[in-house]
Amino acid sequence: MKVLDPAERLLKSLGVTEPREIELEDIAFDQGAEIKYCTLHGCEADILGYRDSAIISIDQSRSHRRKRFSIAHELGHWHYHRGKKLQCRVEDYQPRHRQLTERVANGYAASLLMPHYLVKPRARDHKKLTFKVIEHFSTEFNTSLSATAIRLVEADIWPCMLICHAQEGRKWFTQAPMFHKRWFPQGELDPETSAFDVVFGQSDGGRSPQVIGADAWFDRAEARHYEIFEQAKKTGDGEALILLTVKDDRMVEEEAERSGYSRW
Ligand SMILES: [Zn+2]
Repeated sequence: MKVLDPAERLLKSLGVTEPREIELEDIAFDQGAEIKYCTLHGCEADILGYRDSAIISIDQSRSHRRKRFSIAHELGHWHYHRGKKLQCRVEDYQPRHRQLTERVANGYAASLLMPHYLVKPRARDHKKLTFKVIEHFSTEFNTSLSATAIRLVEADIWPCMLICHAQEGRKWFTQAPMFHKRWFPQGELDPETSAFDVVFGQSDGGRSPQVIGADAWFDRAEARHYEIFEQAKKTGDGEALILLTVKDDRMVEEEAERSGYSRW
């Protein structure tokens, strides 16, 4: 039997069967939390709780999707950290936040906004993950492009990796568990990559995936034996998201299983 996490259990208990039914204000109300939109200085959202009720304040100047993420994040604190003193810092959703409490709240938010039980059956209709597919999910689930991309990559349906690059270097990355952990992307962009033109040039990216030598992304010796698919998309000034997808399955096999290249 599949184990549901707390956010998914809550959605199921409320009878949510479609993405458009994830009404955050109703969900918050059910959990004893009231949402207030106001002007906040220095943060995007916070939560003030007493016994079984709470007030979640959301900065009204943010985009609709950003507000949705902030509400879901605060509901994560309400579920896990009720009664504890903490300083909430909602930031752009990134994999592996430094602070445990923020990481936990982000994980809850991702699951509440894009529960696996609604995402995975839809995802399996797509043979490959591309930015076109990510945009489709982002519209359907009303979530930001990067949060949607992270969720889909981590759903472990396709052998792919997601990297965020700025001009100063790599900001973060995450990968499908099936993308073997020995592949660790380089910190700096190789000028051969299409991502380089997006981060340092005029390109917006978003073209169909390109084939490139894996050694442009990884400095392991075995990388020169493989090609991978690369697709980059501009997400801000001098910033891009890059999706890498395995082209040769041998690249993600356990090292011991592979033959030929390794030992003499
Ligand atoms: Zn927080």
